[in-house]
Amino acid sequence: MNIKELLEGVITQQDLLNYYNATIIYETTPDGINGFIFNYDGVFFIIINKYLSYYRKKKTILHELAHLELNQLGQIDDDLFAFKIDRYEDEADGYIKFILKNIEEAKNGII
Ligand SMILES: [Zn+2]
Repeated sequence: MNIKELLEGVITQQDLLNYYNATIIYETTPDGINGFIFNYDGVFFIIINKYLSYYRKKKTILHELAHLELNQLGQIDDDLFAFKIDRYEDEADGYIKFILKNIEEAKNGII
């Protein structure tokens, strides 16, 4: 299971969360932070700013799932909060864009 299948509608968000052993918590977050993800006791907690619009929530969840799928959390030893690291942020956003572009091209018969 992966984000591509989620975006294609082949699986649900809950399917993917179960697969990654992840859970979403809607909370108040620090200023300017839409969401972040961390592992505690083998469970991935995705914290999402509860005041975001529906669309921004979905977008932020995808972004946090990208951190998971790109295996970035295992690469962070000292810093629990992946959102602080710009390189990972760009990579996560780029990954979602890449998948969306792929799906779009597949629809148009390019690949
Ligand atoms: Zn991030």
